[in-house]
Amino acid sequence: MTVAEPAAVQRTDHQIVILGAGMSGLCMAMQLKKAGINDFVILEKQLGLGGTWWDNTYPGAHVDVPAPVYSFSFEPNPGWTRRFASAPEIQAYMQRCAENTASLRTSVSAAA
Ligand SMILES: Cc1cc2nc3c(=O)[nH]c(=O)nc-3n(C[C@H](O)[C@H](O)[C@H](O)COP(=O)(O)OP(=O)(O)OC[C@H]3O[C@@H](n4cnc5c(N)ncnc54)[C@H](O)[C@@H]3O)c2cc1C
Repeated sequence: MTVAEPAAVQRTDHQIVILGAGMSGLCMAMQLKKAGINDFVILEKQLGLGGTWWDNTYPGAHVDVPAPVYSFSFEPNPGWTRRFASAPEIQAYMQRCAENTASLRTSVSAAA
């Protein structure tokens, strides 16, 4: 997913604004979609999504709880390569979650 897509940036009025495309913001967006609410935007100050898992790229960064429980219950990932997944693997999982939520692709906008 890229951010700051022009169509999303140009519109300034939305029913719902989500601040941050970390796990919390992404979860909110996915649940809104499931509830049939599509008029929302995520404002993310970074160039990509993932929050903690986008920001922390130091060698060996990984989740300290088993990855199957550190994921969305409504979007399970049977393909974890490690029980305690690495930061890049978690970020990639979140990216896939976002891409599976079609209109989310244009819903992440840059925030000042
Ligand atoms: C190194 C590290 C390891 C961790 N390991 C674990 C673990 O093993 N297990 C566990 O349960 N938890 C762990 N955590 C906690 C982890 O942060 C949470 O599990 C979860 O990822 C938090 O998600 P979040 O969306 O609430 O916040 P964040 O991931 O912090 O996302 C917030 C997002 O909001 C954006 N944002 C902030 N302010 C603005 C603004 N003004 N405008 C626009 N965007 C904004 C940020 O750029 C970011 O993308 C870890 C945290 C760190 C730092």
